Amino acid sequence: MSAGASGVALERSLEALDVLAAERGLHLERDVPVGPLTTLRVGGPADRLLTPRTREELLAALSLARDAGVLPFVLGNGSDVVVADAGIRGLVIRNRARAIAIDPASERSRLQVDSGTPMALLVRRVASEALAGLAFGISIPGSLGGAVWANAGAHGGEMRDVLQEVEVWDPATGAAGWLAGAACGLAYRESRFKHSAEVILAARLALRPGDTELIGAEIAAHQEQRRATQPLADQNAGSVFRNPPGDHAGRLIEAAGGKGMRHGSASVSPLHANFIVADRGGSAADVRQLGDRLRAIVAERFGVELDYEIDFVGDWAASGPAGGRM
Ligand SMILES: Cc1cc2nc3c(=O)[nH]c(=O)nc-3n(C[C@H](O)[C@H](O)[C@H](O)COP(=O)(O)OP(=O)(O)OC[C@H]3O[C@@H](n4cnc5c(N)ncnc54)[C@H](O)[C@@H]3O)c2cc1C
Repeated sequence: MSAGASGVALERSLEALDVLAAERGLHLERDVPVGPLTTLRVGGPADRLLTPRTREELLAALSLARDAGVLPFVLGNGSDVVVADAGIRGLVIRNRARAIAIDPASERSRLQVDSGTPMALLVRRVASEALAGLAFGISIPGSLGGAVWANAGAHGGEMRDVLQEVEVWDPATGAAGWLAGAACGLAYRESRFKHSAEVILAARLALRPGDTELIGAEIAAHQEQRRATQPLADQNAGSVFRNPPGDHAGRLIEAAGGKGMRHGSASVSPLHANFIVADRGGSAADVRQLGDRLRAIVAERFGVELDYEIDFVGDWAASGPAGGRM
């Protein structure tokens, strides 16, 4: 399809979204800056934005997109994305559905959690219920859905350890259903959701009975460790690259001379070489170009091809020479 033809198709989809949203009483915002909804705080606007706050509202948003013929982009806490400077075409669904249900009768304490629930909120809630096994999640500033998508992990724990089932919405059928955790393809920073348009609605987690004080101490120790080693006060999106087998991306970048390197408004954190920090008002293209430079110096020095862990999303084709993927 030519750019002109795809532009016309997009305009038609946006019109359909607007008409259907008005009919269904859904509050669709227009041309909303997405950068401020992410931890890196760069990037341009979404054509349309919906912010569902319950599972029902999330399903209504997904149905709206499907009926209008638009593939939506689902944003969690925005802690693993770099939004293109040109923004995101079509509909962004900012998932704020955050119900937590605990079944005390379950043999292993079982939880059902909406995918928009912030991990920190969930970790504190289960700690207050004396449920152990999720303290690692305090260091993951994402939503539960984003954490499943990435099989996020820290301090020796990862989502795979606690995930029992995932409720998934399939854009092809518009139907939702439960998948066993084992069917989700969770591996190191990997899941089937990175390779599909499925949307995670909720998850069931299995935790074990624990001691509130001990869990609290574990959470505090994790937080202390992170404060000492990561630039938490700066605008960043966590680790830029996955660790290659048997090594650490941060070590390789530092050894290749990348620590402290700057490209325009983006720089490598002096605290942790696998973190790129954006200046206030910085650009996504600078982040991408600095990331690509780091990949190049590590490949040249060590022959190791680093893979991005952060997700470049939106209209990178219209964002200038940095390139990227949609
Ligand atoms: C300071 C800092 C520290 C971090 N530390 C860690 C760490 O220790 N370990 C770690 O693993 N990660 C870490 N991260 C990265 C990030 O927090 C995790 O990857 C997190 O799981 C992303 O969740 P999110 O809700 O922010 O996802 P977003 O950034 O909002 O989205 C990321 C991707 O997930 C998709 N997605 C989000 N929700 C859904 C859903 N419901 N259904 C389908 N797809 C969805 C989005 O479409 C997007 O492609 C860190 C980030 C920061 C900023």
